[in-house]
Amino acid sequence: MADRTERQAQATIHAGGEWLEAISGATREILDPADARPFAVVAEGDEKDAERAVAAARQAFDRGPWPGTPVAERAALLRRVADLLVRDREELGLLESRDAGKTVEEGRVDIDCVADAFRYFADLVAAEAPGRVVDAGSPDIHSVVVHEPVGVCALITPWNYPLLQASWKIAPALAAGNTFVIKPSEITPMTTIALIDLLAEAGLPAGVANLVTGPGHTVGARLAEHPGVDLVSFTGGLVSGTKVAQAAAPTVKKVALELGGKNPNVVFADACATEEGFDTAVDQALNAAFIHSGQVCSAGARLIVEESVRERFVAELARRAQKIRLGRGTEDGVECGPLVSEQQRAKTEGYVASALAEGAVLRCGGKRPAPSAARPGSGYFYEPTVLDHCHREMKVVREEVFGPVLTVETFRTEEEAVFLANDTEYGLAGAVWTADGSKARRVAGRLRHGTVWINDFHPYLPQAEWGGFGRSGTGRELGPAGLAEYREPKHVYQNLAPKPVRWFAG
Ligand code: NAD
Repeated sequence: MADRTERQAQATIHAGGEWLEAISGATREILDPADARPFAVVAEGDEKDAERAVAAARQAFDRGPWPGTPVAERAALLRRVADLLVRDREELGLLESRDAGKTVEEGRVDIDCVADAFRYFADLVAAEAPGRVVDAGSPDIHSVVVHEPVGVCALITPWNYPLLQASWKIAPALAAGNTFVIKPSEITPMTTIALIDLLAEAGLPAGVANLVTGPGHTVGARLAEHPGVDLVSFTGGLVSGTKVAQAAAPTVKKVALELGGKNPNVVFADACATEEGFDTAVDQALNAAFIHSGQVCSAGARLIVEESVRERFVAELARRAQKIRLGRGTEDGVECGPLVSEQQRAKTEGYVASALAEGAVLRCGGKRPAPSAARPGSGYFYEPTVLDHCHREMKVVREEVFGPVLTVETFRTEEEAVFLANDTEYGLAGAVWTADGSKARRVAGRLRHGTVWINDFHPYLPQAEWGGFGRSGTGRELGPAGLAEYREPKHVYQNLAPKPVRWFAG
């Protein structure tokens, strides 16, 4: 990994193959969420920096070699990037941990998944036929549908999985032959900056990959509305996502939105009939809600448990949640890091206060933990929180908290379980736990969510589409549809024996 101390630390804007400072000269300190202390300084770009990066991406798309590079070469480059990610796994995993607050082990797993994404899209394009021949019903017509890159892509990413979310956009965008400008979250840009160096090291031509560090309301907004941008792919919250869609509308650019979730984890009593089943369902409910302190778009933040097992299930869940070891992600033995920012913690506290005011019962957590050697008092820590006796009208049940807060609702019938699981404006992911195979398939078939897990929670596959129903977004990432987002199908119709049509008599 390139050592950023070797060049001016704050030259973190990449345009046309060069590392640049912000045109305004502004900078931003990047804080470690575990102690709120700065560990890096980056350029604070604005609209002008976005302009410069779009111009570079436009030039590289319109006049550079990348869109016309043979697919096999593009695939080979993506595979080299995957190898470089594996080479730099330790450093990148550590950087992701410091940037986003997650444990180093989670950071390392993220880097593995990033490498997988590059490999998957390399394999997908390399295995494809160059076009689809269409039977026009005449030997004199040759008709074929080919896929072309969309053009200049603006890629806007959030802070919870900084490099993973970036890779789900960058890998297919490059595989399809596009150029791009990426804007990482202003608070977690470090690994995306490092990836740009790896792309250059792998041999990507200058100008294909561009990056602007800076805020959403300036850099992101300008990218979304820019007439020189052909596609915007956004991952983030619902409010920002709707602004991006509005900004993109006047230029009719392609828009893909990966937004939030309020994901149900439905547990039937029969899943808990054996000790092993009970232990697994509790363990996975814990994982669903609290991994990365709940700052996961697919977090299983709504436990919907059958009434007859509720008391035992919630008691065990709360007992284990209290034992989760909170601390700095780089400390040995730590299981969960801090929230990413003071703002995110304050938001979480606000939701817990509103839930208690609306009648929820606190089973554990609900406060900041006491400081310790592994947990500086200045860090943004918050205890895993279980709120029992929640109901569907509560704000904490309806809105995405994006913190370590699990709400508990109950049901008595399968019909009620399905109703509650679908009772959300979102539709990103959900799970059903049951020992009854037919019930599992029946319920899974009725859930209106982009991913449904049966007796599991959280796994995703690069080969399978990821995205949401409802207000969880439009479009899909990963899988063949995740590549199709970055392409324009083009129908080429060739008449091998042209003749006049004589539609007009004169
Ligand atoms: P956010 O919406 O605040 O920011 C996301 C990105 O958008 C950032 O880079 C930000 O600077 C930028 N942005 C903000 N306002 C903008 C604007 N007006 N125009 C253009 N860009 C703008 O989200 P966040 O707090 O960084 O991330 C958390 C959210 O992301 C959660 O809602 C989570 O569910 C969602 N998320 C979804 C997925 C998914 O796959 N569906 C994955 C990860 C995160």
